[in-house]
Amino acid sequence: AGKSIGTGTIQYLTHEMDEQFTRKLQLERSLFTALEDQALHLVYQPIINLKTKHVDGFEALLRWNHTALGSIPPDEFIPLAEEAALITPINNWVVIEACERLALWQKQIAPDLTMAINISPHQFQSDSFVRTLQHVVSQKKIDPRFVTLELTENIAILQTQRTIERMQLIQALGFRLSIDDFGTGYSSLQYLRAFPIDELKIDKVFIDGIDLGENGLLDSIIQLGQNLKLNLVAEGVETTTALSYLEATACQQMQGFIFSEPLSVEEVELRFGSSNPEEPDNKDN
Ligand code: C2E
Ligand code: MG
Ligand code: MG
Ligand code: MG
Repeated sequence: AGKSIGTGTIQYLTHEMDEQFTRKLQLERSLFTALEDQALHLVYQPIINLKTKHVDGFEALLRWNHTALGSIPPDEFIPLAEEAALITPINNWVVIEACERLALWQKQIAPDLTMAINISPHQFQSDSFVRTLQHVVSQKKIDPRFVTLELTENIAILQTQRTIERMQLIQALGFRLSIDDFGTGYSSLQYLRAFPIDELKIDKVFIDGIDLGENGLLDSIIQLGQNLKLNLVAEGVETTTALSYLEATACQQMQGFIFSEPLSVEEVELRFGSSNPEEPDNKDN
């Protein structure tokens, strides 16, 4: 990236830092037009029912194809978008796009298909997020009980009362709430009781533990979720060892490369569309 930034400070940076900084600037600049350039798109990872092995639904995951730098992972560009205050239009687009896609797939694939959408902490606090959800409901784009909004544990750190009220408002609109990456954040058992949630997504680190013979924490989380009557989803299942272990637990759903990586719209429709072998008794169309 032999691009000169032209400030004296830069000369003190190592070559590697210089490259990182240049990349960040470059990404930030093109993020401004990424939405209108249609460079952002969603891919969809199947969520599998551990009992029936059917596809219950999908999680929408954001992708950015940068013209010069290629595919940028969401873990890299979402923090940048938050810094640059670009995240709101992007996030609102994700919610609407994923809901519209679900409406189509409920007609094409199965009428009770679900969609999970990731919500960043910043997005969760913004009023435009709630307005977007209200818009989705009032436009009758989709029945919100088929849509799960995934929050991270870290939303719980601040403003607990405000967070609870916002969650209640979102649930009153009809959406389901899930805690993503459960077990890795600033968790406290206290908030699990206080927060009106429907589901825990158990983080991949606990699933990876199965292969290492470390099931203690996983078992505790499953027990906890069961006691609180929450739906449990295992994330990042990659091995048959992990899969067969989970099949014998109270965990209801799983997601991971062992079944499928995130898929493009075309791939989903090819694999699960009209002649879906996994929906043998769907006679509606
Ligand atoms: P997440 O919500 O926990 O998503 C799961 C991540 O794990 C995804 O990475 C997925 O591709 C990956 N994954 C799924 N199964 C496996 C597996 O078996 N093995 C391995 N190694 N990985 C697996 P991805 O798509 O790169 O997303 C990373 C994170 O970016 C997400 O974590 C989520 O926090 C965030 N993110 C993605 N899309 C959005 C979005 O639309 N909005 C917001 N706010 N955040 C998003
Ligand atoms: Mg997620
Ligand atoms: Mg996760
Ligand atoms: Mg994550």
